[in-house]
Amino acid sequence: MAIVRLSDEGDFGDGSGRMVCPRCSGSYLHHGYVTVRQRDGGGSGEDCAGTEVTVDADDTKILRLGAEDARWSGRRDSVEIGFWCEECDEASVLELMQHKGLSLVRWIDPS
Ligand SMILES: [Zn+2]
Repeated sequence: MAIVRLSDEGDFGDGSGRMVCPRCSGSYLHHGYVTVRQRDGGGSGEDCAGTEVTVDADDTKILRLGAEDARWSGRRDSVEIGFWCEECDEASVLELMQHKGLSLVRWIDPS
């Protein structure tokens, strides 16, 4: 899947960019659910258990995750935002994550 791209058009004059769909480059992306995963230790926790919170309209979930749970995508914390594209009608997931001191952003396949 493509790296995160911003459109040159339609910012609000404040430096913000418009995200485009990783599948069709369309500009009409809609936010869906948001999931935050944080390891115990508040930012200094690494490779340990932690908490996952998902807010999805009327379906909010809070789960404890073990250190080896497959939902961890790196050694530290992550934020995942589900999107739906009005132009191609496909779902995409944007992930912000920290791994070994690096902060990374990428599109991942919806699960
Ligand atoms: Zn699209």
